[in-house]
Amino acid sequence: MGKKEKKSKEKKYVYSFGNGQAEGRADMKELLGGKGANLAEMDLLKLPVPAGFTITTEVCTYYYENNKTYPKELKKQVDEALKKVEKIMGRKFGDKDNPLLVSVRSGARISMPGMMETVLNVGLNDETREGLIKQTKNPRFVYDSQRRLIQMYADVVMEKAAGIEPEEGKSIRQILEKELEKMMHKKGVKHETELSADDLKELIVIYKNKVKEVLGKPFPEDPQEQLWGAIAAVFESWNGKRAVSYRRIEKIPDWWGTAVNVQSMVFGNMGETSATGVAFTRNPATGENVFYGEWLPNAQGEDVVAGIRTPNPINEAGKNEQNKHLPSLEKAMPNVYKELLKIQKKLEKHYKDMLDIEFTIQEGKLYMLQCRVGKRNGPAAVRIALDMLKEKLITKEEAVLKVSPAQLDELLHPIIDPQAEKNAKKIGSGLPAGPGGASGQIVFSSKDAVEWANQGKKVILVREETNPEDIDGMRAAQAILTGRGGMTSHAALVARGWGKCCIVGASNLLIDVEKKQMNCSDGTILKEGEWITLNGSKGIVYLGQLPMIKATEENKDFIKFMKLCDSLRKLKIRTNADTPEDAKKAREFGAEGIGLFRTEHMFYGEGSEKPLFLLRKMIVSKTESERRAALDELFPYVKEDVKGTLKVMDGLPVTFRTLDPPLHEFVPQNPDERKKLAKSLNIDLDEFNRRADSLHENNPMMGHRGVRLGISYPEITEMQVRAIFEATAELIKENKKPFPEIMIPVTCIQTELQHQYELIQRVHKEVCEKFKLKEIPHLIGTMIEIPRAALTADKIAEYAQFFSFGTNDLTQMTFGFSRDDIGSFLPEYLEKKILPYDPFQQIDRDSVGELMRIACEKGRKTRKDIKLGICGEHGGDPNSIEFCHILGLNYVSCSPFRVPIARLAAAQAAVRFDKKNKKEKTKKKAKSYNVHYIV
Ligand code: PEP
Ligand code: MG
Repeated sequence: MGKKEKKSKEKKYVYSFGNGQAEGRADMKELLGGKGANLAEMDLLKLPVPAGFTITTEVCTYYYENNKTYPKELKKQVDEALKKVEKIMGRKFGDKDNPLLVSVRSGARISMPGMMETVLNVGLNDETREGLIKQTKNPRFVYDSQRRLIQMYADVVMEKAAGIEPEEGKSIRQILEKELEKMMHKKGVKHETELSADDLKELIVIYKNKVKEVLGKPFPEDPQEQLWGAIAAVFESWNGKRAVSYRRIEKIPDWWGTAVNVQSMVFGNMGETSATGVAFTRNPATGENVFYGEWLPNAQGEDVVAGIRTPNPINEAGKNEQNKHLPSLEKAMPNVYKELLKIQKKLEKHYKDMLDIEFTIQEGKLYMLQCRVGKRNGPAAVRIALDMLKEKLITKEEAVLKVSPAQLDELLHPIIDPQAEKNAKKIGSGLPAGPGGASGQIVFSSKDAVEWANQGKKVILVREETNPEDIDGMRAAQAILTGRGGMTSHAALVARGWGKCCIVGASNLLIDVEKKQMNCSDGTILKEGEWITLNGSKGIVYLGQLPMIKATEENKDFIKFMKLCDSLRKLKIRTNADTPEDAKKAREFGAEGIGLFRTEHMFYGEGSEKPLFLLRKMIVSKTESERRAALDELFPYVKEDVKGTLKVMDGLPVTFRTLDPPLHEFVPQNPDERKKLAKSLNIDLDEFNRRADSLHENNPMMGHRGVRLGISYPEITEMQVRAIFEATAELIKENKKPFPEIMIPVTCIQTELQHQYELIQRVHKEVCEKFKLKEIPHLIGTMIEIPRAALTADKIAEYAQFFSFGTNDLTQMTFGFSRDDIGSFLPEYLEKKILPYDPFQQIDRDSVGELMRIACEKGRKTRKDIKLGICGEHGGDPNSIEFCHILGLNYVSCSPFRVPIARLAAAQAAVRFDKKNKKEKTKKKAKSYNVHYIV
């Protein structure tokens, strides 16, 4: 084998970029991470990207699988890539006259803001700094960069990556920060920017001594050692506490790994013509189409996002109460601003999405350091999708895919009741970083937030600023309030990602975390545990607990967006509802019918004492005549209930399910209740107790329930069906358009359904005669919730005009997991990755899904036009809805509040799976066990 051939076989672990000749592309995120892939793409677009290279995520996986070592090819590939960078930049790494400095950053497939580590200014030491000073003639800047490197390197590489866990307040970062403060104090200055070159030079010596003293090792002067130390530290940070905790919450798999980006440094801290900034191509909080961002002159790297200094607005349009006195980039550097504006437009057009970009200006020259699809909240996502459609930037199919079900859910979250808000006491304000309203008791630490929330309390986490260590508390809190930071600060980014109510930079509140209190500008002092309410959409803090209302009705974009979804989806969306009130709510949310009316539910809740008493009487009746007498008494209640719901759903189908639960569930335990019932049946208490106890079953879920009751006591089905037909007949006479569907539960044998079918047909005929109607429109069908029913669906379809998949029971029967007891072992199953998700939440396509597929196929064979739907809880789960679309069901049915999400999920499934070129993929996906819904 020739040398050349051998080389081409070598696995590629390093991808270069720079000079418009990147080896990667935007669609290589799995290998290069989001940051690396987008740097490559920007480079290919000929944007000003400092040259660099990306070490792939595969190296991270290798590192952890091979005892923290690297593939043998890596060193050589890194050396080669570094040479390319040197050539493009005209500098040399480690050269004492003309040194190249690099940044070393993480970059996973999905952005994990602030969860992993970064080291800047790598390559700087006492020797190379002299060369840089000669070149830049800016010793202050060079010394500042060196002291930053020592501080970062000691913290990230020498302490954290080495697994050292210092005592509270004794981390190397804090120790060095104290030295910096001491120096500022000694020199009588307030800001570090006021320290002179000599001060900083002195500080470098102090830093180095401290590092050696505290960590027992000197700070490495060798640039190569610095580089490899930083690379390892980034890989180590993939398994750091913060990153792991974030991955758990965001459900990011551990095996993805992070890439490492090594890029030549550009400096935003070279003086007043240098700067650094972060921006969004549109406002991420509202979606408004205005370039939006923040910048800081003479600053480096993370200064903007760290929330240490309040950043300046990027343009005049972005000015608000908090920052109106600060200069905008638009005014301060108009030419650079114009160039940036052009670039962001070009990027948005290219990516067809709202982007989040990072840039640095070095002595008046603009560099792009990052771009990625920008995180946005629900209302902004909807607005951006609609605006981009209007601007003809995207198609309507693309618009529908731009909003995730979770983001839409945010629009369904509460806002403060406007009436109450008008009269509420305003105690502070800040930047509106996360949508909606929330109220809670204030706590001042992440730990307290978690503990209080575990006690069932609603809390608002109040911090000066947040950092990734606060992640669990932020999650547990109803909302987050910070005193510092901008719209791109940690708190804002994380809250936006979660769609959580959040206000940042509320500088008029004096937050004292130690004393656990907050001083408001009007003199009010709030202590831990006191209630406040946040309007996260406007950035206002109120005293006390204000009432909330739903946001949906107020949002016109929501209605427009939903119409767009409706124009694309194939699935109809129904709801599970058993009361006229629920039916009404669901109709408002866009439900196109009721897919499950559980008749047993009418016996619980407000005003149901009488029908419940009569039902119980029927249950403990011994003879048919006793039972019929009780059923006759019950009849008018059932009819009234049925009629009420049919009326609300006028013109839309309503699926009434006959009685399903095992009867003993209804028998009262209370002796007084029992006495009353005994009396009404003219029997003594002993006899009552005997009858009630005889209903006991060892395994009621598989016992005398569903259709089995209808077979043992046909008079029960008869009464229910008569009530349905009579209510329908009456409504027809009132010129309404009722459409009942009668559904038999727990069927598994054809003859069971035949029995009920014939009974229903007889009652239908009788009611038609009574009301002098030729026909009462209706359908008769069954639930498919037992594997046998699915497997014999062709036979069952002879008596069923429709099937509705009861996936709650079907999952129970398929897995043999009790739906009521799975809680005792499911968490462990998930934790140990025995199961990838809860099968009661998401359809397991390999088993339950396969049974559904068989049932559809067999059902359609017998009855071509059989109507197919689902009414188990999975009907509101986006992944399961996608599966239902693939199977070609007619509808899904879910709880009223899930209806909008189901409308969106159905539209997205239609877009994703109906493209001709995706046919093959569809089949494969439908069968795969591990399909995960990516939003
Ligand atoms: C089901 O089993 O999926 C179903 C909808 O019925 P229930 O939950 O009432 O048993
Ligand atoms: Mg069921």
